[in-house]
Amino acid sequence: MSETPSMRTRFIWETSASLLTFVALATLFSSIDLFEWLYEFSRAHEDYELDDVFAALMALPAILLIIVIRRLVDLKREMALRVNAQETARHLASVDPLTGLANRFQFFIDIKQTLSFGLRKKACYALFHIDLDRFKQINDRYGPVVGDGVLKQVANLIEDRLDDQDLLARVSSDEFLLLKPYKRRSDVTDLGQYLVSLLDRSFQYQGVEHSVTASIGIAINDDFTPQNYLNSERLMTSADIAMFTAKSNGRNRCEVYHPTMRQKFEEQTILGDDLIRACEQKEFEAFFQPLVDAQTFDVVGAEALVRWRHPTRGFLAPAEFLDTAETLGLISQIDQAMLEEAIKIRHKIEDSGLVAPRISVNISADRLKSPLFLHMVRNINVDPASLIFEISEAVTFDTLDDMSRYNLEALAEQGFEVEIDDFGSGRASILSLLEMEPKRLKIDRNLIAPIIASEGSRKLVKSVVDMATALGVEVVAEGVETLEHANILAAQGCRLLQGYYFATPMPSDHFIQFLHEKSGSKQATSELSA
Ligand code: C2E
Ligand code: CA
Ligand code: CA
Repeated sequence: MSETPSMRTRFIWETSASLLTFVALATLFSSIDLFEWLYEFSRAHEDYELDDVFAALMALPAILLIIVIRRLVDLKREMALRVNAQETARHLASVDPLTGLANRFQFFIDIKQTLSFGLRKKACYALFHIDLDRFKQINDRYGPVVGDGVLKQVANLIEDRLDDQDLLARVSSDEFLLLKPYKRRSDVTDLGQYLVSLLDRSFQYQGVEHSVTASIGIAINDDFTPQNYLNSERLMTSADIAMFTAKSNGRNRCEVYHPTMRQKFEEQTILGDDLIRACEQKEFEAFFQPLVDAQTFDVVGAEALVRWRHPTRGFLAPAEFLDTAETLGLISQIDQAMLEEAIKIRHKIEDSGLVAPRISVNISADRLKSPLFLHMVRNINVDPASLIFEISEAVTFDTLDDMSRYNLEALAEQGFEVEIDDFGSGRASILSLLEMEPKRLKIDRNLIAPIIASEGSRKLVKSVVDMATALGVEVVAEGVETLEHANILAAQGCRLLQGYYFATPMPSDHFIQFLHEKSGSKQATSELSA
């Protein structure tokens, strides 16, 4: 138990003051001739019972002594309570209350101490930055209590594998830092892989299974120049950058830091800043790619695909910025911008006297689960029959949260059609997807590309078409790059086709011109055949 200097001073003061009072009174009594004084006193107060007066006078020092002792005991107890409270506060400030692991601040102190000790022993250390993938979805869907339950289990799982010299901390919601000494470098990568597979599992909480994976970045500390070895901030930044790289490379994996990663990370940071500006400056534009009827090749629809009109780099494709936009929570704004562009082009086409095709827009998982989604859709004042919403297969029915389900049902009630996009690109089963009762299924272009060369691929596509058709769901094929693809797919029962064979995505003006040309050539053909 440690006492603070001010408490110690107070204790000394109060003890000294009490003792001094006691000594002063004792001296006073001894300095006068007590018995003579008592005799005079009793003569002057003959009416009183002398025994009582004596007793009172004799008791006085004893009472004072008791008061002093009690005060000292109270003071001691108060000091003990204060020291306890200070220790509890210090403990709370250094420990993560959820997992009982060290928190960020404690880790910063511990890593510095460990490294300064390690430098003397020339010990190599590896820092692991462990970040759970899509943990936010568990939190959003099941609430923070369930999220906390999963986090505790993750922490226990890692903690059980630690040795005495390892430092482990939870440094933010779903991020952990682990500092570990090592002998051989291969031990570090082995442990990284092991942790990835350890965390790739389902955690049971309140009777529900929650799947979790982790992305891990590793930074190595084996350069014994003191300014490098002791630079714990740099070590932590490097592990963070390696973790970011693991996320960019597809998540559920680990990466060891290399200086080349820093450049990409900095580029991403600049991209993020640029994207925020692009949203404010409305730099996103929709390109439109036609969808044709598989039997007649007539244009019956178009998909709005976002392009970023970058001030210095020209038009950028979604692959260059959508992931970052998703991470920054900007994707809903982009989707909304595309929806508005889709409505604008419908009006333009109608105004130019053509029959306007239906326009498909993509909805991200973020937007689908937004409580504002319906409000935005209701505000757009458009005939529901003119729009189609495409939801990526990644948003499977099993993992759909209540808000997304509600939004999907409300869309259908208002007469909008919903389509499952990128079918066959992920792990979702066809049955779980069909539970969403989509109007259409769009087969991913990676399943379409090999159908010419591979009979197996043809059979696979045919079985998807048959299963969907049996359930009353239409099938669209995307990535149709040749006439041969188109013919095979039409013969297999696909209703609609989309791909470079018919047209690449184009700016709105070009698309309107494209429609004019198509309607002109159609008219010419029908006039010729008449
Ligand atoms: P997606 O929804 O599957 O869109 C089709 C993608 O395939 C488009 O790429 C299109 O240009 C490309 N494509 C079309 N035909 C062919 C073909 O014959 N061969 C090949 N190799 N590719 C073809 P894009 O425009 O780069 O878009 C990529 C993805 O970005 C889209 O895939 C979609 O998932 C996403 N995306 C695009 N616009 C939006 C948007 O406004 N919101 C959201 N949330 N996502 C969007
Ligand atoms: Ca799409
Ligand atoms: Ca697609």
